[in-house]
Amino acid sequence: MITNLEDTVEKLRQEVANEALNIHDLKSLEAFRIKYLGEKSFLVNEQKNIKNISPEDRPLYGKLLNELKIYLNKIYDENKSIIDALVLEEKLSKEAFDITLPGIVQEIGHEHPLSMVTKEIVDIFHGMGFTAIEGPELETDFYNFTALNTPPEHPARDEQDTFYTNISPHVLLRSHTSTVQIRAMEKMCPPLRVLAHGRVYRNEEINARKMPFFHQLEILAVEKNLTFGNMKWVLNEFIKKFFGKDIKVRFRPDFFPFTEPSAELDSQCPFCEGSGCTTCGNRGWLELLGCGMVDPNVLKAVDIDSNEWIGFAAGLGLERFTMLKYKIPDIRYFFTGDLRFLKQF
Ligand SMILES: [Zn+2]
Repeated sequence: MITNLEDTVEKLRQEVANEALNIHDLKSLEAFRIKYLGEKSFLVNEQKNIKNISPEDRPLYGKLLNELKIYLNKIYDENKSIIDALVLEEKLSKEAFDITLPGIVQEIGHEHPLSMVTKEIVDIFHGMGFTAIEGPELETDFYNFTALNTPPEHPARDEQDTFYTNISPHVLLRSHTSTVQIRAMEKMCPPLRVLAHGRVYRNEEINARKMPFFHQLEILAVEKNLTFGNMKWVLNEFIKKFFGKDIKVRFRPDFFPFTEPSAELDSQCPFCEGSGCTTCGNRGWLELLGCGMVDPNVLKAVDIDSNEWIGFAAGLGLERFTMLKYKIPDIRYFFTGDLRFLKQF
């Protein structure tokens, strides 16, 4: 019985080896599988038959069938991988493309001049000990006005200047980055030197100088014994480093609700050295930023003792500085996303 099976299996192996040579596509591969591994194959029939084999012959019988099964599967798998590769190759050859055609050049982006100038200014103030912090663009009227000594009847709160939301009458788009000063003073104990920059929103008509949103950068220092002179020195240093030369600055009295005294800083035009040019509108001077000593009411709003601590703050428009630095005539260029504009920097 076993000898019979041994002979049959040996013959089958030879037959299979020859049959395998005829496998050349998916169809012949499938025919091979049905013939030798399918439900009606010799192997499956004999596996079903094993229960009829005498118990003493059964282990060897089972072993022979198992070896045959491994052999058949091996032949099948080898041929299947060859046929799969052929099928894939044929599929790819149908999808072939002309590798001699020129490729499509992917244009890469360009750093925005506003980002470049922002980084530069942040770096200058870092050098003087100011740490950059962030705050939300969606704010409440407490952070945007009340804590900054801007009472409810103040015209700045008017809907004509500020974008309110329909979330609540107290939620608005921040109209300046001074909101971040309040958040900083709430969380951090003085002495502190912080810097915040980001997008702000005002209900302005769009023209060459104004947009309903733009970018501000503010600094705030709260320390003991700070003076207006300290602030002047810091701002002077900043202007000198930004324009790369020692230029004259002047402070003109101004009014902001959150600083007292308040001032506007002008610098002599760095492009014409004061003799008058198109950048300065022939005035020889440029209005650069607003600044002042933090109003004691602002310190009170965040529970800082104004008898012990003194602050100064300054805020500037980043578009203004970028326009000056690169002599850009129209603020709207910043927001077009036009690569022809961006590539110039
Ligand atoms: Zn000038």
